[in-house]
Amino acid sequence: MKRLLVFTVFLLALAGAARAAEYAVPVKVSQGHAFPVSVTDAAPFDAVFLWRGERFRVTAERAGDATWKAELLLAMPLDATGRHTLSLSVNGEKRNFAIAAASVPWPQSVLKVAPKYVEPPKDVQERIARDVQRSRNALASRTEKRWSLPLQRPVPGGVTSPFGGRRVFNGKPRAPHKGTDMRSPEGADVLAVADGTVLLAEPQYFGGNTVYLDHGQGVISTYAHLSAFDVTPGQSVRKGERIGRSGSTGRVTGPHLHLGFLVQGVAVDAMPLFSDPPSLVGGPTRSIFDTKPKDGTSRSSR
Ligand SMILES: [Zn+2]
Repeated sequence: MKRLLVFTVFLLALAGAARAAEYAVPVKVSQGHAFPVSVTDAAPFDAVFLWRGERFRVTAERAGDATWKAELLLAMPLDATGRHTLSLSVNGEKRNFAIAAASVPWPQSVLKVAPKYVEPPKDVQERIARDVQRSRNALASRTEKRWSLPLQRPVPGGVTSPFGGRRVFNGKPRAPHKGTDMRSPEGADVLAVADGTVLLAEPQYFGGNTVYLDHGQGVISTYAHLSAFDVTPGQSVRKGERIGRSGSTGRVTGPHLHLGFLVQGVAVDAMPLFSDPPSLVGGPTRSIFDTKPKDGTSRSSR
């Protein structure tokens, strides 16, 4: 009898050991999209993720009965092509996953703004350089995970200019749009897309009054052109909490919210992260909240 019991315990132990870690890694992701990757196992573990030259150690969190999960959000850059390798080490065992970048037909938009925002005068170039440096420092933040999907919609309005669009300001081609413009009247509430900590809340030359929120693991959301701030740097905010009011400060054609979303310094489209589960292939995404397109001219303006 005792022998049988020992044997049964041994079998159970074997069954436990045989249950290998489970990996959730997509095979294909569109350019400019963020994507979650995770490992789950029956016991606590540490996972090391290596993606595009950056290494992350993530301690698995309890995710249910005898289930531990290590999760990370990663980015496929706007200009990525071909296949990329995600290396994952769990308990010293390493596995490689190939992730293919799907290309996206980014649109082009032609905009007219005040000339000082296209050819900034000499006296503001120092200020722009300072803004760039402060943004860069903020984006280098790597803290514990606080993000969660799906993201909270920051304003109810539709998308007026999608992420990734190539832009021509006053006839001069400029960098692709590294965020999403959402319709929002002057003074409307702007909500945090996820739990986080305020990194910056300050006026910038192009962004106007801008807030940066740190959601951990290098996941950062930015809110530009605000008319007012409701938060200060260092403050902790919850998903859905008001962080400011929309407005028309900085380089704008009218009041709206410019929502930026950066994953380890790489700008991605936030829109696919508002749906549950997030859409990883497709875009540019404007349909989720979009109101009906206007009649007439839009068809001939392509
Ligand atoms: Zn914008």
